[in-house]
Amino acid sequence: MTMSKNKFIDNILSVRKEPLTALEIKSVQVNLGYDCNMSCKHCHVSGGPTRTEIMNKKIMEQVLRVIQDNNIESLDITGGAPEKNPLFRWLYMRLKKQIVMLLHALT
Ligand code: SF4
Repeated sequence: MTMSKNKFIDNILSVRKEPLTALEIKSVQVNLGYDCNMSCKHCHVSGGPTRTEIMNKKIMEQVLRVIQDNNIESLDITGGAPEKNPLFRWLYMRLKKQIVMLLHALT
C-alpha cells in the first residue's frame, strides 16, 4: 500500500507538533552512472552496457563541495558499475573522506 506524502506528513503531525527533521547528515550516496558490464533483470536502475548516462565533472565538483561544506563523514559510491565512469579515479583522488564502494559488478 502506497501512502501519499501528504498523508505521511499528516500522520507524523498527528503524533508530533513538528515535522521530522534530520539532526545531521553523516553519509551521502552518489550514483556515478548506469553503465554496467552486467544487465541484471532485478537492477533497480536498469543498468547495463547500453546505458550511457554518467555523472560529469561539474556534478562531481558539486558533490565534493557538499561533503566538504557539510562535514560529511563518508561517501557511498555506486552505479551501475561506478568504476566504469572515466572520471571515477579523478573523484576518488580528491576525496579525503571515508569511502564506501557499493560495487554492483566486477569489471
Ligand atoms: S550488476 Fe548491479 S548495477 Fe549492474 S545491472 Fe546488475 S544490478 Fe544493475
